[in-house]
Amino acid sequence: MKIAFIGSGPVSLLKAYLHAKGNPNDEIIIIDQHNRVGGAWYSDISTSGHEIECGCHIWSYCPEVYDFFKKEFELQLQPFNPNAVFVGKHFNLPYSLKNTINTYTFIAKNTLTGKFSRNKEVRTEPMWHTRIFGKKNQYPLKGSVELINSMKRKLDALSNVEFLLGKQVDAIDVMTKVTLAFREGEKLEVDKAILTSVSEIKEVNSASKKIELVQDRRDYIHLLLSSNQSFRKKISYWRLMNDNVIHRISDISYQTENKENLLLVGIKPDPFYSKSEDELTEYCRHFLLNKGVIVQNQSLDRIKTHVFPTYYIKEGLRNQINNIDLQKIELIHSTDLIYGFFRILKKENLI
Ligand SMILES: Cc1cc2nc3c(=O)[nH]c(=O)nc-3n(C[C@H](O)[C@H](O)[C@H](O)COP(=O)(O)OP(=O)(O)OC[C@H]3O[C@@H](n4cnc5c(N)ncnc54)[C@H](O)[C@@H]3O)c2cc1C
Repeated sequence: MKIAFIGSGPVSLLKAYLHAKGNPNDEIIIIDQHNRVGGAWYSDISTSGHEIECGCHIWSYCPEVYDFFKKEFELQLQPFNPNAVFVGKHFNLPYSLKNTINTYTFIAKNTLTGKFSRNKEVRTEPMWHTRIFGKKNQYPLKGSVELINSMKRKLDALSNVEFLLGKQVDAIDVMTKVTLAFREGEKLEVDKAILTSVSEIKEVNSASKKIELVQDRRDYIHLLLSSNQSFRKKISYWRLMNDNVIHRISDISYQTENKENLLLVGIKPDPFYSKSEDELTEYCRHFLLNKGVIVQNQSLDRIKTHVFPTYYIKEGLRNQINNIDLQKIELIHSTDLIYGFFRILKKENLI
């Protein structure tokens, strides 16, 4: 079979890798509109020549998936140090504890409203964890680029995998064969197309229906800020709960072996499109000063702005695609890297 994977984000890469490895006679084509792989987990080269990630990221807590990464992709993982936290006005809440609180709230709500059967989800869905102590979100020693690079190396080593980069699929026709129509005008005929819920495709047509796709656009925007001095307070990952401008912050200096002092600051779309980048940098400076991350007169320069638009296919439409013919077209649900991996690995009985 000739199988096209649309998108080269981590979830597509994993699915393509497992399929290519298990089916050496199948021909696998991984397509992406960008000239690089990794999707939202793309990387850049820093001033000192180190590969650094471009978005503030966290991996959800899931020991089974962490173990798979260590074994299959030879990754060395470590817990965030200090803890990843939700930052409130008056106190910070560890990420892992918030997750536990959400789980117990979910159970309590279902119990109080008589929806006992929903509590079964706690045993099957990766986002629920009842464990109170010892939950640590883990991450690769050199950042998420390690995972993407390791997956790319493994895929390159397989002779039945080919990358088609810089091409955008606009429409998919599912008939006896599956035809992909590219924005650039060409067409590609395959036996099956696999896409994730983060796909910018206009329509999927089959003999019985035409599905016009509607997506929610979510822009992920990050300022890369650099300082000539190290930061006074260490941030692994902060998710801000009450700020109107900043969404999250990560210190990624470790990805340059501490040769540079780098912060990635995630900015919410509304302020990004209504303020200038200088105003936003100044806003970040005040915020970081108030939180004791930098001191007066410490330099803080914006060296890059990353804007990555993503397009999430709505749930009803995702189901319609999967109802066409799973032998010919399949959509994998993926709004979180670890949960996306968990579902694929469970389905393949690998965890
Ligand atoms: C900046 C950012 C930060 C995030 N942070 C986190 C986080 O901290 N933790 C977490 O778990 N999740 C996070 N997410 C969610 C993220 O979407 C998922 O983790 C994961 O990236 C989903 O993987 P994916 O392979 O489905 O798609 P993506 O990584 O979104 O990649 C999709 C790729 O497919 C390409 N593509 C889409 N449509 C087409 C088309 N028609 N033709 C050709 N190419 C196409 C896109 O250009 C893109 O390169 C973040 C997302 C973004 C954008």
